[in-house]
Amino acid sequence: MKELAAGVYVETAYQGANVGFISTEEGAVLVDAPMIPSEAWRWLRRVARISQSGLAFLINTDYHGDHVLGNSFFAASIIAHENTWRELKNHGDALLQRYIEEYKEKDPQVAADLAEARIALPEISILDGITLHKGSRTIEVLFLGGHTPGSIGVYVPDGRVLFAGDVVVTGRHPNLAQAQSQQWVEALARIRAMPVDIIVPGHGEPTDVSAIEPLILYIQEVRQRVRELYDGGASRREAVEKVRTAMIERYPVPVEEREIVATQIRASIERVYEEVRRGE
Ligand SMILES: [Zn+2]
Repeated sequence: MKELAAGVYVETAYQGANVGFISTEEGAVLVDAPMIPSEAWRWLRRVARISQSGLAFLINTDYHGDHVLGNSFFAASIIAHENTWRELKNHGDALLQRYIEEYKEKDPQVAADLAEARIALPEISILDGITLHKGSRTIEVLFLGGHTPGSIGVYVPDGRVLFAGDVVVTGRHPNLAQAQSQQWVEALARIRAMPVDIIVPGHGEPTDVSAIEPLILYIQEVRQRVRELYDGGASRREAVEKVRTAMIERYPVPVEEREIVATQIRASIERVYEEVRRGE
């Protein structure tokens, strides 16, 4: 766990997404929850040791399992975007079930622990944003979009820290499988203009605004390549093959993750192909 600014913490070592919290005199404001139950319990203990006044809020930066599966382990009001609330209300149980099945082979103990979890829905849903005033701190929750229709950021002005969720990732391919790619580029441009010293990505090590430009270029390049292939009459499968070959070496991928990453990049390109086909 690292303290990025006074009372602003991040942990990048758990499975799944990064998690963080902002300490206030009126409780901790958590950003995402560890997806593995044993890690969620450990995180809860670590937060409790620093934040003597309990938990205030838990903010989900999007509706993907690696951000929300641990929700039920934290006794805090959950804040998320309206689209995250809707996605979890309609498909949350199926999401949890999918993870339980996946872990039955990978790690039966995790599967058994997950079977005791439940999908805790956000109590407070937002559209454009909301400002939290807790103790002497102000925390801004703002809609970003792009990565998913429910992607939000958590901005701590007095520490100049932005938790960007998966809208920013470092050292790995951005996941466009459910993206609106143009909106994503716009969200990144907005982040670049914010008074921010530290950006906490959804995955990877904390960074700063220098991480933004490469992401914009990556997304624009995928859009450009897919558009050219589509205009040239390429099928979706042809586009996937060609663009994946062009993009896969952009980030180092450990051998054991090659298959997962290749699948994810395929889903990203298919999504962009669909956008192009619809004229977006
Ligand atoms: Zn995500």
